[in-house]
Amino acid sequence: MSELITSDSSATCRAGCGACCIAPSITSPIPGMPEGKLAGVRCVQLDANNLCMLFGSPLRPIVCRQFDYDPTVCGEHRDEALATLSWLEESTC
Ligand code: SF4
Ligand code: SF4
Repeated sequence: MSELITSDSSATCRAGCGACCIAPSITSPIPGMPEGKLAGVRCVQLDANNLCMLFGSPLRPIVCRQFDYDPTVCGEHRDEALATLSWLEESTC
């Protein structure tokens, strides 16, 4: 883990990243994916611009609504988030 991480209260989720909708497994049902999804599988609700098509909808799974931007997980770019989330997934299995 980098020691150069600084707290930046202005940091927010990068629209169009979508790493947290691909790398982790999700065990709760997702519309179109009743069994949830495996790690590394793209959620069917992620559109071509890597935006959630259920954003703001009550159909969006609770686990997705609870996941929040975290600079230590999301990193500085999408590839970093994918790598960290994949590592976390493997570490917690
Ligand atoms: S991994 Fe982080 S930055 Fe990327 S979409 Fe998810 S919350 Fe946003
Ligand atoms: S439902 Fe939306 S937020 Fe949840 S994994 Fe799928 S695209 Fe991402």
